[in-house]
Amino acid sequence: MRALRAVLFDLDGTLHDRPATIAGYLCGHLSRFGLPASYAERFTELDDFGYRSKPEVFAALVTEYRLPHDPAALLADFGEHKLAAVRLMAGAHELLRELRRRDLKLGVLTNGRTELQTAVVERLGLLPLIDDLLISEAAGVAKPDARFYGLALARLGVEAPEALFVGDSPTNDIVGPQAAGMRAAYLPTGHPLPPGVVPDFVLTGLSDMLRLVPWAADSKL
Ligand SMILES: [Mg+2]
Repeated sequence: MRALRAVLFDLDGTLHDRPATIAGYLCGHLSRFGLPASYAERFTELDDFGYRSKPEVFAALVTEYRLPHDPAALLADFGEHKLAAVRLMAGAHELLRELRRRDLKLGVLTNGRTELQTAVVERLGLLPLIDDLLISEAAGVAKPDARFYGLALARLGVEAPEALFVGDSPTNDIVGPQAAGMRAAYLPTGHPLPPGVVPDFVLTGLSDMLRLVPWAADSKL
């Protein structure tokens, strides 16, 4: 087994506690628009861990709840307030510092818009703790396209067997990285694992990573 030289992280649901961010955002959103508590639950279902477009989510909510609001106004509220609500995944800073102490190269690889994802990473205080941030919009290619993982590895100067991918999406963070030759650790904060998807490691929390991955813990021995 090749020694571990780099760890690539997904952002939303992995280093960014997106469920906590959305819950925090929805508290303010409900009070600003006088919405019922069940709206928050329904938003979370429709949002599908961020994989459904927000215009679609708000349009569905206005229809289902027969709201007097313009969906565009609800969407504008999301754009205006979501960044203020961003929450770091528990243990993320400590984990990144420990991995860096072990001389591992660290990258964040995320799908999404450059401006938004860069702002999230900055607000979470991640930039000083990582070596590279790669966002699909800027790269012109997205997970689970093998070229996206290859680009991230090249930028860190490592080969796929020397890297571990950590994330919550079975397709984007397990199947894609494994197909690209990396090992993959699954953090179950989002979609459940479908049949046939077998991560190399399953984490119960981000901070479990070092304990559950002796391959990583032994990398400097
Ligand atoms: Mg994710």
